[in-house]
Amino acid sequence: MNKCYFCKGATRIKNIDVDFRWGDKLYVVKNVPVEVCTQCGERYYSAEVSKRLDNLVKKTSKDQKPRQILEVPVFNWQ
Ligand SMILES: [Zn+2]
Repeated sequence: MNKCYFCKGATRIKNIDVDFRWGDKLYVVKNVPVEVCTQCGERYYSAEVSKRLDNLVKKTSKDQKPRQILEVPVFNWQ
């Protein structure tokens, strides 16, 4: 088990839904094993997880089909 870089709290691997942007698109990957701080909630992505997320997104248009496509409401502040 590791310690949080920010608050020194204990971190724990949790399966969470990760949302991130790639270009102008928003992606959501469900049940990603991410190390999460139990105190402040900071997330730590292992190199392996980051790489896998990268690959998922890059391959989306080819062989890996998304399980579901969500609509994301987008607003303009002004
Ligand atoms: Zn923390």
